[in-house]
Amino acid sequence: MTNKADNVSKELERLRSLINDYNYQYYVLDDPSVPDAEYDRLYRELTQLEAEHPELITTDSPTQRVGAKPDSGFAEVVHELPMLSLDNAMDNDEMINFNRRVIDRLAFSGDIEYVCEPKLDGLAISLLYEDGVLTRAATRGDGTQGENITLNAKTIRSIPLKLRIENPPKRIEVRGEVFMLKSSFETINEEAREQGSKVFANPRNAAAGSLRQLDPQITAKRNLSFYAYSMGLVSDDFELEGQHFARLQQIKQLGLPVSSEVKVVKGIDGCLEYYQDISERRDSLQYEIDGVVNKVNEIALQERLGFVARAPRWAIAHKFPAQEEITQLTGVDFQV
Ligand code: NAD
Repeated sequence: MTNKADNVSKELERLRSLINDYNYQYYVLDDPSVPDAEYDRLYRELTQLEAEHPELITTDSPTQRVGAKPDSGFAEVVHELPMLSLDNAMDNDEMINFNRRVIDRLAFSGDIEYVCEPKLDGLAISLLYEDGVLTRAATRGDGTQGENITLNAKTIRSIPLKLRIENPPKRIEVRGEVFMLKSSFETINEEAREQGSKVFANPRNAAAGSLRQLDPQITAKRNLSFYAYSMGLVSDDFELEGQHFARLQQIKQLGLPVSSEVKVVKGIDGCLEYYQDISERRDSLQYEIDGVVNKVNEIALQERLGFVARAPRWAIAHKFPAQEEITQLTGVDFQV
């Protein structure tokens, strides 16, 4: 190996090992040791270096997988349809490039219809309903394998234990985000302070730490919320609509909550307007969001676009600029 190639390999190794450690702290321990902005910077460095040296990409690189494999006391759940992550756009230009890639790949003329959704800052779960009854809830985990958190999910009041339709499908999997309202987050941290125990770094960690409690009674006290944003595997006795937005309406009809902020827009201009509008209202929302998720509305187009290793090509998270670099992580202890 030449000196230069050797240096690149070493740098890749360093980045992968750092990111793997951060992933473990964030996803398994719910206890991050660096701010998200720092993590995102390192992750981008790794992605860029790998793009310049594709021959050095390893299958165990964090860019090739979602999250981290859980190692908790919960039973394992294997996701029949992987639960993926999302690619990020850090600014308007990256959004414009995303839209361009979609149009080029589809050889599309005109405006693509997108569904814009708030990017809820919580954690992804999958809910399985069999004959209308909630039989299993699982975390996303590393995308392939998550944790069975059924008892804990049952304590979340907005998750129906039974679907609200007459003839439920044999099987339907609904996916969405568990999150904590800002008000609940404040209350929990206030209580923790009074008791002299550790406080949570942010509502995302609080939601993850609360959902992944081995004692569901603790989860029940944490007042978690849930919004659905997609479907996983569905049995063929359920007639699925052909657009993502219409599918969200179907999810609502089943009795699951969907954010009222979800909107259909036309083209990149519609995406950028939505982003601008919601970022201005961000502080007045009852929950934390860290950006907007833009999804191609037509399922047939989504299918043509397909996936890359860890994310769909038909969706992107347009992130808000990092607000709190390190402030959140100093001066407080964290609770697992
Ligand atoms: P992500 O949070 O950037 O995006 C994917 C997730 O978005 C989904 O899994 C889902 O949970 C969520 N989501 C929210 N609203 C959604 C909607 N409407 N539709 C679809 N999905 C929606 O990806 P990730 O892989 O979960 O996490 C990566 C991010 O986590 C990083 O960018 C970083 O900021 C943070 N992170 C930080 C550390 C750290 O040490 N500080 C470590 C690991 C990850």
